[in-house]
Amino acid sequence: MADIQTIGGCQKCGSASLTCKYNFFGEGELQIHSWEHKCLDCGNRLTTAYRTDDEDIVFAEEDVDHCPYCGRSPA
Ligand SMILES: [Zn+2]
Ligand SMILES: [Zn+2]
Repeated sequence: MADIQTIGGCQKCGSASLTCKYNFFGEGELQIHSWEHKCLDCGNRLTTAYRTDDEDIVFAEEDVDHCPYCGRSPA
């Protein structure tokens, strides 16, 4: 299940074709919430993934339901 929105305002080229994509994957105890900003014009791409099995983060303290780049929540 993916939720993609065109939000525009690419920081690199100013394009209106910047998309924000949210993806959720869950299986048993594993949960992965991933966010991606991608510009369709210049290819500029930013990604962040929050995983319950990532030992470098405290999953419960991460704001996984908001995009780390634009702050929106999944539709
Ligand atoms: Zn761009
Ligand atoms: Zn975003």
